[in-house]
Amino acid sequence: MFHVHAASYGRFPVGAVIVGLILSLGSCRPSAPTPNRSIQPGETVYFVPTAEKMVALTLDDGPNGAATERVLDILKQFRVPATFFLIGTNVTHYPEIVRRMAREGHLIGNHSFQHLRFDQITSRAMLEDIARGEEAITGVTGVKPTWFRPPFGINGVGLDEICRARGVVIAGWSGHAGDWNPQSAVEIAEHMITQATPGDILLLHDGWETRHEVDRHNTVDAVYLILERLTREGFQFVTLPELVRHAGPPLAEFSDGVRLLGLHVQAQPIHPGDAVYIRYFWDIPGGWNYKSAAAFVHFQTGDGFRFQDDHIIRPRGDVRDLAVERTLIIPPNAPVGRYQGRIGLFDPANPDVKLRVPVRSAGLHRKGAVILPDILEIRARSNTNNQVP
Ligand SMILES: [Zn+2]
Repeated sequence: MFHVHAASYGRFPVGAVIVGLILSLGSCRPSAPTPNRSIQPGETVYFVPTAEKMVALTLDDGPNGAATERVLDILKQFRVPATFFLIGTNVTHYPEIVRRMAREGHLIGNHSFQHLRFDQITSRAMLEDIARGEEAITGVTGVKPTWFRPPFGINGVGLDEICRARGVVIAGWSGHAGDWNPQSAVEIAEHMITQATPGDILLLHDGWETRHEVDRHNTVDAVYLILERLTREGFQFVTLPELVRHAGPPLAEFSDGVRLLGLHVQAQPIHPGDAVYIRYFWDIPGGWNYKSAAAFVHFQTGDGFRFQDDHIIRPRGDVRDLAVERTLIIPPNAPVGRYQGRIGLFDPANPDVKLRVPVRSAGLHRKGAVILPDILEIRARSNTNNQVP
């Protein structure tokens, strides 16, 4: 059984922690992280660094008749706004549901008219399908959508430019439950609940592409379970633009423009030998011309015991899986105690030299590594776990 643990910087008063550590670690060079720059049309937002315990719930492929209406009932019951990415052809089928969404304070985004794969059509066809989806929504609500999520999360060639020209921001996601695969409501909900961390954009589906009256009762029931648990745990649900309004600085920024937006360590308490699920939220600048970059990630104790979770980060492209998801096996001989994280990048222009990219800003950094104190804690296994029944 996993427990929700948002081991991000958002859980504690960052200022106080940083000041305390500057005093105790005199050799570290502090530099104030730069404020989050505003989001521009054509950019992809998939995770928002924030000090608030906030997430955005997004629902794709609707409206879908009764399933969407039930989701709206549940959202109303919890007084929670969501962001719906609607398919134009479904909008023309259920205009009354779309009007209800708008009336009840939800944000409506465009998810294209026909839900085609954008890697299989021309940019002209892509533009036309986006425009038609936009018109379908505007025709019903009178409001032009300013958020777009590409079907299947596939960024076609030229999507950035199309969205920039139309004044539209591209929505990705940082957490999903794979609810397009057959799963029970409890499985979908557990998956979502265990990975929720402040700043997450959560993805579910109240519809199924361009079909009508598709059975989505598992996802609908999962929405109830997710809202029930996460609101009880103090999470606030907001629409995407509201989440962006609460954006804070990234965890770190490197001199080549790469940013570490956040980090989420799941499944605590953690014991030696455990598999731990970690998500890294990296952001690569637009003009990036390397195939990948290598991140070094060290977890170490004050005594110098260390294990690593080095990984590759890729340039921005598809909105699918922008978050780097990793499963880390804690060494069985890892001593119990608190671990510091040290994260940095190797310069992709010098892959053989392993030259570290300097840190431009971070709470604490040293020798090209961002220092994250107490990023995880390893505890001894309790005796009861080891007893033979
Ligand atoms: Zn979709």
